[in-house]
Amino acid sequence: MIEDIWLYLVLGLLVLGGVGGLSAWLLRGRDRGREPSGTERADSAPAPAPDPAAGEQDSEQQGAGAEVLTEQAPPAETAPEAADVETTPELDRPEAAATRMERLRGRLARSGALGTTLLNLLSKDQLSESDWEEIEETLLLADVGAGPTDELMAALRTRAKVTGGTDVAQVRQMLREELLALVDPQMDRRLSATPGLADDGSAHPATILVVGVNGTGKTTTVGKLARLLVAEDKDIFLGAADTFRAAAADQLATWGERVGVPVVRSDREGADPASVAFDAVKAGQQAQADVVMVDTAGRLQNKADLMDQLGKIKRVISRSAPVSEVLLVLDATTGQNGMRQAQVFADVVDVTGIVLTKLDGTAKGGIIIAVQRALGVPVKFVGLGEGPDDLAPFVPEDFVDALLT
Ligand code: GDP
Repeated sequence: MIEDIWLYLVLGLLVLGGVGGLSAWLLRGRDRGREPSGTERADSAPAPAPDPAAGEQDSEQQGAGAEVLTEQAPPAETAPEAADVETTPELDRPEAAATRMERLRGRLARSGALGTTLLNLLSKDQLSESDWEEIEETLLLADVGAGPTDELMAALRTRAKVTGGTDVAQVRQMLREELLALVDPQMDRRLSATPGLADDGSAHPATILVVGVNGTGKTTTVGKLARLLVAEDKDIFLGAADTFRAAAADQLATWGERVGVPVVRSDREGADPASVAFDAVKAGQQAQADVVMVDTAGRLQNKADLMDQLGKIKRVISRSAPVSEVLLVLDATTGQNGMRQAQVFADVVDVTGIVLTKLDGTAKGGIIIAVQRALGVPVKFVGLGEGPDDLAPFVPEDFVDALLT
């Protein structure tokens, strides 16, 4: 009897141990199959929230990140993981300077009315006094300006006497030469975009201040110029020092994002523009950028305000790097008003180049001649539309040829 009890006990223990061992083995195996790898865990963990202030506090880091994104975007066949795709913005590839004028030439067609009218009149056999008056009126209406118009009239009268009219090719050639002389092909229209050396031998970026009355297309021009420089493989930084208009900084940030260019801005509307400009140049210098371009505010109460503000911006920038270029943006459709604005800006700051915007929508291309004469500085770029690459370096020969086609 006692032997039977012992036998049952031993058998019971054996059965219980076997079931426990079996279930433990099964459970271990199931867990092994489910065990996540280290990388999977890392990937499925929520991404750390971006620090909203990081971009402003450390523009140098921001710049380095943008460079990596621009230069090392992964090729399509080595598709990055989903999380990477979300954080790697697709960057635009801006059009190179060389092909822009060719593409945009047709947009000067309205200005071309000037050339066509002059050609028609000058090709006549005999030019009456009323024809000469019409020539003068055409030039004035195209905003060529009184002085240059007088000069051109005198030159044309002399040459018309010598050669006579009728031969269209000859008249076109004569007009081309005279218009070209007025636009002045000798002026240096290159943008100062080469880094310089400080007294202590350290490099500093070229710094470009962009000034002009609001509404002329200033911020748009800064964005378009940034693209042009990116197309030339320049490393650039933008400074949003138009702090009077919150939208201007957002606008600039969008331009920058599209081509991977860091934009230094203040998150406070009405912040000191000079301090934003200073931060932008400092950040550009630390990142060893080629160019720092600073957008400024144009809505100022009076000339003294303007002088104070632009003067201060220039002074604080100069602590890090001398100002290489001051570009004045003018709206070509504003005629005499634009000329007055140009004069005010030229009085308060040393303008080194002019950007004429909205030349696509006007027959007043003659303002190029007038404004260069008045300020003694060259038109360096022309805006010929609202598209991101509708800004071209100004080439006098192309412009005059477009007028005469
Ligand atoms: P800002 O106030 O001077 O900074 O002017 P914005 O850059 O905001 O531009 C004012 C308006 O002018 C915008 O609608 C631009 O798209 C437009 N604009 C700028 N440049 C050109 C141009 O060359 N041609 C045309 N048609 N529009 C332009």
